[in-house]
This record gives sequence, C-alpha cells and structure tokens, in this order.
Amino acid sequence: MEHATNANVSAAEIARFGKLAAGWWDPNGESRPLHDLNPVRAGFIADRTTLRGARVADVGCGGGLLSEALARAGAQVTGIDLGEKVIGIAKLHLYESNLSVDYRVQGSHELALAEAGTFDAVCCMELIEHVPDPAALVQDLARMVKPGGRVFMSTINRTPLAFGAAIVGAEYITRMLPRGTHHYAQFLKPSELGALLRRAGLELDEVKGLGYNPLSRKAWLTGMTQVNYILAATRPA
Ligand code: SAH
Repeated sequence: MEHATNANVSAAEIARFGKLAAGWWDPNGESRPLHDLNPVRAGFIADRTTLRGARVADVGCGGGLLSEALARAGAQVTGIDLGEKVIGIAKLHLYESNLSVDYRVQGSHELALAEAGTFDAVCCMELIEHVPDPAALVQDLARMVKPGGRVFMSTINRTPLAFGAAIVGAEYITRMLPRGTHHYAQFLKPSELGALLRRAGLELDEVKGLGYNPLSRKAWLTGMTQVNYILAATRPA
C-alpha cells in the first residue's frame, strides 16, 4: 500500500476513487454530484473566510474541484490526497485551468506534523466518511489550522433519509455513483462530528444543510441537515 506511514486510510477506498480519476472533471461523469455541489460549498467557504492571499489546505482533495475553486478566488492552496491517480488528474487539470495549486500525495497526519498551525483555513469535503478513524482526521485538521483560523467540512448525515438518498437513490436507483461508494455505518451525525471537533480543541460555529436535486442538478444551502451537510469551525486564537 502506498504511504504506509499514514495508518488512517483504507486501501479499498483509495482504489475505488482511483477508478473515478480519469473521469473526475467530466461534469456528467461519476463525480457529477461533486460538480453540482462545488459552487455552493465554495461559496459557503468564501462567505466565511478571506480567501485572497490566504494559505488554505484541501484535505482529501481528489481531482481538485474545490482546490481549483479556492485558487480561483485567490487562495494559495495545498491539496493533499492519498490517491496517486486522483492527484495525477488534479495536476494535469492545472494545464487546462492555468491555476496554481500545490498538489501532493500525502496523508493528513504527515501534513499536520510538517506544517502545524500554518493554514488560515482547512477544508475537508466528503472525506471523513471514508476514513477508518474519523477522530484522528479531525485532530489532524485542528493541528494544521492557525489559531484563529477556520476549518470547513462537509459529509453525509446518518439518517434513514440519507440512506435513501445517498445510497439507495444515488448508487442503486439512478446509478449516479458506483455501488459501494458509501457505507451507512461510517456516516456521522452533526452532533457526533461536533463532539469530535470539540475534542480536538475546535469550536463548532455553524452547520448548514446542502440541498441537492439530482434531476435539476441544482444545489443550495438549507436548514435541512438530514442528508448532506457542511460546517464551519474555528480554532480559538
Ligand atoms: N474532497 C474532494 C474529493 C472527495 S472524494 C471533493 O469533495 O471534491 C474522497 C477523496 O478522499 C478521494 O479522492 C480519495 O482518494 C480520498 N481519500 C480516501 N481516504 C483517504 C485518506 N485516508 N486520506 C486522504 N485521502 C483519502
């Protein structure tokens, strides 16, 4: 397995996303829900922190959808992922976008140790439901961010509605996502993720629902957090 120094990784998960790498930037491909959600989550972040000139980490960046949006808004972005294939695609796409992002095949723990307290903002979208030890991931994020800086995360709630939408709907009925992409038992409720954040010394400021209609492909912020949600936290100064 690549990067055995980072124990908090499932080889099966990395392989699963590796299969999606080539089509990552196809808005009609298997990463389509990420394409549709991306402007909303980038907007959520931009409304809550200054991106221009800021040093931002994108942890579990995949093919770089959010990293590029943040770089376009003027941030100096470091994008890390343990998938070599997705990082390869992310790097290639910079030739198309003419943006600059520091992409690395690196685990969150390595980055947290090497560059502790150096990021103005740390983003971690749709990763925590794929790692074996979510508490350790949150501790890494807390360690990366500067005192006074912000942490943004998005994931899927563990509710019957999320099971219906994210697994039965997306993987079995519409087949928008490959089967096996998500595992219900690994989903975290906002209260559970909030507890992990607090244990890591972060303050949870806000949780918002991410509404998504896969037919119209519209996405929006909502008070309804039962399926997808996004949160903002702060490392106290
Ligand atoms: N954050 C991106 C991609 C989400 S898909 C976005 O929302 O657009 C999940 C990503 O997490 C994949 O690229 C996968 O390779 C990566 N991943 C899975 N387990 C990981 C781990 N333990 N450490 C780092 N990245 C991981």
